[in-house]
Amino acid sequence: MKIVINGIHANLRFSSAHMIPLHESCGGIHGHSYIVDVQFEGERAGKFGFVVDFKKAKDIVREICSRLDHKVLIPSYSRTIEFVENSENFQDIENRRFSNVQKGDGKSIEFKIMQKEYKLPQEDCCLLPLESTSAEDLAEYFAEEIYKYLKETDNNIKSIQICVNEGIGQGAYFEKSV
Ligand SMILES: [Zn+2]
Repeated sequence: MKIVINGIHANLRFSSAHMIPLHESCGGIHGHSYIVDVQFEGERAGKFGFVVDFKKAKDIVREICSRLDHKVLIPSYSRTIEFVENSENFQDIENRRFSNVQKGDGKSIEFKIMQKEYKLPQEDCCLLPLESTSAEDLAEYFAEEIYKYLKETDNNIKSIQICVNEGIGQGAYFEKSV
């Protein structure tokens, strides 16, 4: 059995800025209004015979969307982004990827992409443990994060399928089998 959640109708969205380093047109910082479609496949289980509780699934996806919403998405494992290591903020970059920073504390994230230098307020950024913030990488990120929430409680799930759409009409689809 499969359940399907349509991101437009279920309001699973976020608006973020990103860049694809070295790409001819996507190398500059630009934005998308992303929409996340989700499907779960597995046996029906539990008291109600659900594959996954729709409300629970939507709450999880919305929580992940809210981490990214209105942020500049920065892939901390990028091979082309050179973080300024002397920056006081560089240390423990992973632990801060969900932007758990005080607003207006004046801290910045500094990095270089070839000759381009960036300095952005930390509170405006979301560092992600990814090599890129393409739709492909974000789809994988959503699937892995959703799985973290559900693996203890919903062991009837056989696969999580995510489509991260960069607006309407183009999206990357990833299936995580569990
Ligand atoms: Zn883009």
